[in-house]
Amino acid sequence: MNKIEHIGIAVNSLEAAGNIYQKLLSTAIYKIEEVASEGVKTAFLQNGPNKIELLEATNPDSPIAKFITKKGEGIHHIAFDVDDIHAEMARLKAEGFVLLNEEPKKGADNKLVCFVHPKSANGVLVELCQEIV
Ligand code: ZN
Repeated sequence: MNKIEHIGIAVNSLEAAGNIYQKLLSTAIYKIEEVASEGVKTAFLQNGPNKIELLEATNPDSPIAKFITKKGEGIHHIAFDVDDIHAEMARLKAEGFVLLNEEPKKGADNKLVCFVHPKSANGVLVELCQEIV
């Protein structure tokens, strides 16, 4: 498990939140990408070695829509960079963590991703991500 790759923030409006975070971090959004399979539209901002991922739901069944209904806007997940996502998934499974997907999925920003259930990590949704090369 390497550095925190990004922090995901659930937002109602990518445009409104994008304006706020561009001002906050004094940097421009470098990528907007829709992940249709997850029902989300994402915007990324680089901040030093880390990134902020803003997530807006694209349909009412999206996990982001459900999250905002339950908890409101705010921090949704913490993503860690990994070198070998398959190895990390096997390691975490062996340690008793509950993974939300059995196989890595194609996520935003050119990554293979896997999520760890928040119940396994003290209420925090953890994302593993490996850069696709
Ligand atoms: Zn993420």
